[in-house]
Amino acid sequence: MSNSPVRAQVEGAGRVSGEQNSAVGEQVSPAPNKATKANKPTKVAKVAKVAKTAKSAQAVKATGEASKKATRGAAKQAKPWKPESHLAMVRRARKINRELAELYPYAHPELDFRNPFELLVATVLSAQTTDLRVNQTTPALFAKYPTPEDLAAADPEELEEIIRPTGFFRAKAKSLIGLSAALRDNFGGEVPGRLEDLVTLPGVGRKTANVVLGNAFGVPGITVDTHFGRLVRRWKWTEQEDPEKIEAEICAIFPKSEWTMLSHRVIFHGRRVCHSRKPACGACPIAPLCPAYGEGETDPEKAKKLLKYELGGYPGQRLAPPPDYPGRPAAPLGTGDE
Ligand code: SF4
Repeated sequence: MSNSPVRAQVEGAGRVSGEQNSAVGEQVSPAPNKATKANKPTKVAKVAKVAKTAKSAQAVKATGEASKKATRGAAKQAKPWKPESHLAMVRRARKINRELAELYPYAHPELDFRNPFELLVATVLSAQTTDLRVNQTTPALFAKYPTPEDLAAADPEELEEIIRPTGFFRAKAKSLIGLSAALRDNFGGEVPGRLEDLVTLPGVGRKTANVVLGNAFGVPGITVDTHFGRLVRRWKWTEQEDPEKIEAEICAIFPKSEWTMLSHRVIFHGRRVCHSRKPACGACPIAPLCPAYGEGETDPEKAKKLLKYELGGYPGQRLAPPPDYPGRPAAPLGTGDE
């Protein structure tokens, strides 16, 4: 499977702690799309890269370029949003996807993993916590339990202690032991590559299954998490609240080949710019395409301060980010830089 992201990761990388720069090769969908183009950074990627080295004149200039684009967008958006036909919405949605692809050519899943089993476990752990906290927890977990057989045989209390930082650790420990036993007993110790099999595993729902399929098996899928749902409703791609209905409606707008990377781009934008409570509208390059422009801060300078991760000059969520990630890796647990 030459285009397997997992294989790329394994080939490209050592694991997290202590090997941050060896990085996990990446990634994801058959939209290897920007992997090669990523060498030619976009304006915003440049901004992010430069901003991390902070107050150099270059950083100020580059940040200015992105701000101008966002400010132009903001000006265009001063008019009220007009109702549009379904066809116009689809065209606008696809344009947003293209803009996001330019903004985040390095979009990727923000969980550290080296194989489908690790991705499955990390995704189960990511419920109700941040990917960062999971990434800080899994190095010790996978060092002690590298295979489904090992994890199935784990002492529950010892496992709970290791995964405690991710919250809900009793329920999660039960799921991990249960799903590992099911992998061992029903699937020969391998993670299955079919949705209908994955959802039979304890603690694995459709969202987790799609994450694993999209990122470990190259099977296109839309991941509807809280960010994805919020943004696609703001963009009026759908009015649905139910994740399965959202998934179905968004799948109908985009070709299958875009599904996995679209999910990463939308989630990236939700985490960095279009936050739940304070979206950074004044620093958002897709403002001209957004019906919800103005829900958040529109002043460009104030909005810029709301940007997160590499766009704000902060570390990312992965301890071992892909090589093309323009930001800094996250710090291991307990280093005080969390
Ligand atoms: S709500 Fe604001 S931050 Fe979110 S996409 Fe629209 S313009 Fe951008």
